[in-house]
Amino acid sequence: MLKVASQRKLGEIDVSKMNILGELNEIKGFKMPSTFICQVAGKLVNNRISGIFFQYKPAIKKDKCKGCGVCAESCPVNAITMIDRIPVINRKICIRCYCCQELCPSDVIELKRLT
Ligand code: SF4
Ligand code: SF4
Repeated sequence: MLKVASQRKLGEIDVSKMNILGELNEIKGFKMPSTFICQVAGKLVNNRISGIFFQYKPAIKKDKCKGCGVCAESCPVNAITMIDRIPVINRKICIRCYCCQELCPSDVIELKRLT
């Protein structure tokens, strides 16, 4: 993960130079996100094929959305704009981190295959 962060010039990757808050404890029973298998599988095959079969985008079930705005607040790149209490995702800047999907309290963001 740090290697990828370095390639993308996202900041310091030398752990000894990082200011780590809290304690580093092993988290027992941690469940990997539902997209984990897609990320692993995507690395095993050609990028073009993985783009077709293993990459997913967040999609909001607008008819069930409560308009709370948690998804927009949690998006690290501000790719979600609330328009009339409906979240709209800017696909051009979405980095597919899936924070919005993980944090939506109403569970109305699903992952759809990127086409
Ligand atoms: S977090 Fe979920 S319910 Fe809230 S605005 Fe976003 S999609 Fe809608
Ligand atoms: S997947 Fe990540 S970058 Fe894309 S809209 Fe959701 S929170 Fe933002």
